[in-house]
Amino acid sequence: MRTKAMNEVTLQFPSRSANEGFARSAAACFAAQMDPTLNELEDIKTAVSEAVTNAIVHAYPEDIGQVQMKLRICAENVLEITVRDHGRGIPDVEKARQPMFTTGGEERSGMGFTIMESFMDRLTVRSQPGRGTTVVMRKRLAPRMKAVK
Ligand code: ATP
Ligand code: MG
Repeated sequence: MRTKAMNEVTLQFPSRSANEGFARSAAACFAAQMDPTLNELEDIKTAVSEAVTNAIVHAYPEDIGQVQMKLRICAENVLEITVRDHGRGIPDVEKARQPMFTTGGEERSGMGFTIMESFMDRLTVRSQPGRGTTVVMRKRLAPRMKAVK
C-alpha cells in the first residue's frame, strides 16, 4: 500500500553522468526540511548516488534515456526515494542484489544495491527486462523537534 505523502517532489533528467551529482544534492536539499543529522544526510546522499548511477550506467548503456527521481516525506518521519528508468531492465533481480554481482566488468564492484540496503531501512527493486527498473528506498529519520510544515 502506498502511504500518503506530506510533501513530495519529482525530478526528471537525462541519464548523463553530470546529473548524478545534481540528484544527490537535490535529494539532500529536499531532505533538509526533515532536519536530518549529518549522518542521515550522508546516508541518503550515498544511497541516491548508487541508485542514480545505476540508472545512468546500466539502464541505458548505449544511449541517453530519462531518469525520474521522486522524493516523498511520509508519516513517522519516513523519507521515501524512488528512482525509475525505462531502460534495459534486470533479468534476475535477486541475483543482481547479491554483493559483488556485477555486469559492469572491472570498473564496477557490484556493491551498489548492498550499499543502498545498508544505508536505508528498506529497499525494493522491481524490474522488467526491456522495460525498465524502479528502485524504492525508505528511511526513517530520528524524530526531531522541528516538524515539517
Ligand atoms: P557498483 O555499484 O559497485 O559500481 P554495480 O553497479 O555493478 O557496481 P550494483 O549497483 O549492485 O553493482 O548493481 C548490480 C547489477 O544490477 C549491475 O551490474 C547491473 O547488471 C544491474 N543493474 C542495477 N541497476 C540497474 C538498472 N537501473 N538497469 C539495468 N541494470 C541494472
Ligand atoms: Mg551500481
